[in-house]
Amino acid sequence: MQKILVTGGCGYIGSHTLIDLIENGYAVISVDSLLNSSTDALDGVARVTGTRVKNYAVDLTDLTATRAVFEQEPDIAGIIHFAALKSVGESVEQPLRYYRNNLVSLLNVLDCAREFGVANFIFSSSCSVYGNADDLPVTEATPRKAAESPYAATKQMGEDIIRDFTKLDNGISSILLRYFNPAGAHPSAELGEAPTNPALSLVPVITETAIGKRKAMTVFGDDYATRDGSCVRDYIHVMDLANAHTKCFEYLAAEKNESRCEIFNVGIGQGATVLEAINAFEAVSGEKLNYQLGPRRAGDVVSIYADNGKANERLGWYPQYDMTAIMDSAWRW
Ligand code: NAD
Repeated sequence: MQKILVTGGCGYIGSHTLIDLIENGYAVISVDSLLNSSTDALDGVARVTGTRVKNYAVDLTDLTATRAVFEQEPDIAGIIHFAALKSVGESVEQPLRYYRNNLVSLLNVLDCAREFGVANFIFSSSCSVYGNADDLPVTEATPRKAAESPYAATKQMGEDIIRDFTKLDNGISSILLRYFNPAGAHPSAELGEAPTNPALSLVPVITETAIGKRKAMTVFGDDYATRDGSCVRDYIHVMDLANAHTKCFEYLAAEKNESRCEIFNVGIGQGATVLEAINAFEAVSGEKLNYQLGPRRAGDVVSIYADNGKANERLGWYPQYDMTAIMDSAWRW
């Protein structure tokens, strides 16, 4: 059984990916400092899969502690590096914390990959690297624009570090996965998005409003040049995204990759407006959401959605879930 080390395995996307990896026959371990999560997610993984995943509660910015994990876990076939801080707004207020956490942890993990001979490396990047793209949908060849936040800058720099690193003759191949807007929960409702900070992503804000945790929510901007004036995003079900990681590992392990550092967009390839997402939630839940239309929010990209053709063709990855499934799973969770 091949062993995959998942950093950030107690987080939202990492924990769902553990399930997909286990269901596809991999042994998994997690390294997560629990900075923004708890081991509750691993309880959920155990209820779904029957497998209790071991987590090393290590801060990956600590090289000595990170090396110790690799010493205790020989024969790692691949690393999926999710661990990062991810709040755009917080990154503007605490840029050094974001650069230090996201970049030092990446450098340490790459150092260990080289030292311990781990051949396959998958990195959580983001569609935020495209900034305000000129043409839609964005393909992997769409030029990256200036980062809109320190968070997005850590993703651009992370991509550059990995690209330079894998140019060396070190036997390591990598994939940069550019996620669009992950949303929803495992269909069992045993785990889902559990932000420790106030939720910022649209779907948890919707569900928190519906259960009364927030009194009301605001749709930022109703006068953009879109179908209904609200922003357009590409919402991808977290289990579709999870499966993209398994497919990436299979692709790297079978040496199907054409270069040592490849990029894939992972979105469903369709945009939905914020108001369409709200309507989908209301239809699924039967709840009337207390929302108001408000002014535009600084830094918001108007529209972005993916061309996912490359992931379809090369990885054999096709998303299975739609907006209704996203809202239904998030609501039940
Ligand atoms: P998350 O916050 O739920 O999970 C990240 C996990 O990493 C947390 O459990 C946290 O405790 C851990 N972590 C952070 N810094 C660490 C460190 N120094 N050492 C050890 N553990 C550390 O976030 P998520 O939504 O699951 O996102 C996973 C990855 O995907 C991140 O890299 C994020 O930037 C990226 N991403 C997320 C989204 C999104 O909308 N959720 C979109 C695009 C990209």
